[in-house]
Amino acid sequence: MTMIPPGGVIGIVGGGQLGRMTALAAARLGYRCHIYCPEPDSPAAQVAAAATVAAYDDAGALARFAATVDVVTFEFENLPHASLEALARARPVRPSPRLLELSQDRRAEKAFVAGLGIATAPFAAIERPADLAPALARIGLPAVLKTARLGYDGKGQALLRDGDDDAAAWRGLGQVACVLEGFVDFACEVSVIVARGLDGTLATYDVVENRHVRHILATTHAPAQVAAAVADAARAIARRLAEAADLVGLLAVEMFVGRDGTVLVNELAPRPHNSGHWTIEACPTSQFEQLVRAVAGLPLGDTTRRCDAVMTNLIGADVDAWPTLLAEPGAHLHLYGKRETRAGRKMGHVTRLSPRST
Ligand code: AMP
Repeated sequence: MTMIPPGGVIGIVGGGQLGRMTALAAARLGYRCHIYCPEPDSPAAQVAAAATVAAYDDAGALARFAATVDVVTFEFENLPHASLEALARARPVRPSPRLLELSQDRRAEKAFVAGLGIATAPFAAIERPADLAPALARIGLPAVLKTARLGYDGKGQALLRDGDDDAAAWRGLGQVACVLEGFVDFACEVSVIVARGLDGTLATYDVVENRHVRHILATTHAPAQVAAAVADAARAIARRLAEAADLVGLLAVEMFVGRDGTVLVNELAPRPHNSGHWTIEACPTSQFEQLVRAVAGLPLGDTTRRCDAVMTNLIGADVDAWPTLLAEPGAHLHLYGKRETRAGRKMGHVTRLSPRST
């Protein structure tokens, strides 16, 4: 097992806030980060030692980037698989390009989860319009049609109800490969972030509840108010997935909790996750430091929740409240350095702590 000691260079593909907070955590441990992304002046590059501004499929730039780093990780999922494979021929890429590829396609992701005997909503791959009728007959309505690839924050999804024109919904999503899922009448949405080190050690954070507004994460509540058995089941699922995927790094597992307490996996993200931002203030080791530790081959850190926390995203013009938030005692404000405020864009977040309830 090769450890990359402090002083080494961590390459991060993607330049958003997840890369920014990873670079800040890396710097605290004495690492340098080199950010690779197509946008100049990205949130991550602003706080990193080096930046490459190039397209994600620029073979020459990728090779030059790889030559300057000791290990590569990523903070963005919609990356060309071939680029990650090219990087992996030069340097360790953690998590593996294979796991990234799995998480990029809902068909592969769901098949992987279901193949382990872990529950998901009922689903069917829709490759062509003729696949819709048999899938609907099996799954029933309401159902959610989701593009297999390139969906995020509810984009690339259509809710199908009784009487809807299903073929029109498929055309509306661009006539691309999709997954049809049964609509889950969930009690709440939760997530677990699990880390796995190079030596196979596992560490999970507490189960948190995520509340969305217009399909975008609005708040994360740590811990989730669920029965202990539900929390245990959610964490066990996350650990099982991390082991089966041979993870090195972080895996965020989004799940639905049914009204009867069943836990269904919805989505996987092999990277830091918005629902883990609360760990910066509430845990001895944040998700970002944990990622650095895992990819550098260091021992994983303590994930104990020291207190309760509520993380609120600042989306679009919400960020204009920064002077008020700065003045609020106990509010931990994080701003991402994005120059342009746009509707639906994550501009920052604020975390509020309270004494540990459980
Ligand atoms: P996703 O892009 O899969 O994370 O979906 C975004 C959001 O849409 C989820 O966080 C849920 O709030 C909702 N959603 C997705 N799939 C389903 C489903 N099968 N049943 C009910 N709600 C869903």
